[in-house]
Amino acid sequence: MNELKLLYEGKAKRIYETADEHVLLVQYMDQITALDGLKKEQMASKGALNNQITSLIFEILSDYNVPNHFIKKTSETEQLVKRLHMLPLEVVVRNVAAGSFSKRLGVAEGTPLVRPIIEFYYKNDALHDPIINDDHVVFLDIATDEEIIKIKRRAFEVNEALIRIFESIGIRLVDFKIEFGKDEDGQILLGDEVTPDTCRLWDMDTNERLDKDLYRRDLGDVIPVYKEVLRRLTHIN
Ligand code: ADP
Ligand code: UDP
Repeated sequence: MNELKLLYEGKAKRIYETADEHVLLVQYMDQITALDGLKKEQMASKGALNNQITSLIFEILSDYNVPNHFIKKTSETEQLVKRLHMLPLEVVVRNVAAGSFSKRLGVAEGTPLVRPIIEFYYKNDALHDPIINDDHVVFLDIATDEEIIKIKRRAFEVNEALIRIFESIGIRLVDFKIEFGKDEDGQILLGDEVTPDTCRLWDMDTNERLDKDLYRRDLGDVIPVYKEVLRRLTHIN
């Protein structure tokens, strides 16, 4: 592990090169951040929980035939993935109004959306990830019109699959952020992670928040609820 070259350290993960140029090792860190990195803390076992949660979800997404980067979990905190050329795009899918959507449009949190809504954000720290539209995506050379259509279709497919997965464990999928990248053949695959850091997950019976909003909004400890999400996922068939 130590001899691997560190390619990138982000807010939640470290990315290492491996002996295979097409494969990366992702290490989930015990770090939690919010508010554009202004809030930051070390949190024991968070890396292991997210690595296990996202590994299980990507395995299920593979069963749903969603093309993705996941290869295998190699330790509590690490996994191997296909190396992608990531698009600098945060693709947000929403089923229920919450967060920045509620604020921007004045819609009460918890309002169900008649149909899912996709938003694009330009992944650019210096610009604080501004919301952008399809024309901006083309202008910024992030994707072509045809690729945007494909990305949106994929994002809706991921949404359908995730809604079903979470519904089966009593969780309402409010919204989430995903990232796509291109493999060496130019195919667009789902990359990055699907965890309670990147999704809003509400308990269907109690409306309890089972995600990072607890940390963002100082509502409580995330570790017990991440453990609960993992426990429920582990018990899917
Ligand atoms: P951030 O960069 O937002 O701080 P992370 O700490 O999660 O986020 O860093 C992980 C980085 O790895 C992200 O920039 C993400 O786009 C990138 N990434 C995710 N999956 C892959 C992949 N399969 N190949 C290459 N890069 C990836
Ligand atoms: N999200 C994320 N990373 C980001 C911004 C948002 O994973 O940098 C996720 C967030 O967890 C939520 C969804 O995307 O599930 C929509 O977030 P929103 O735009 O409401 O932003 P926030 O309220 O976090 O500012």
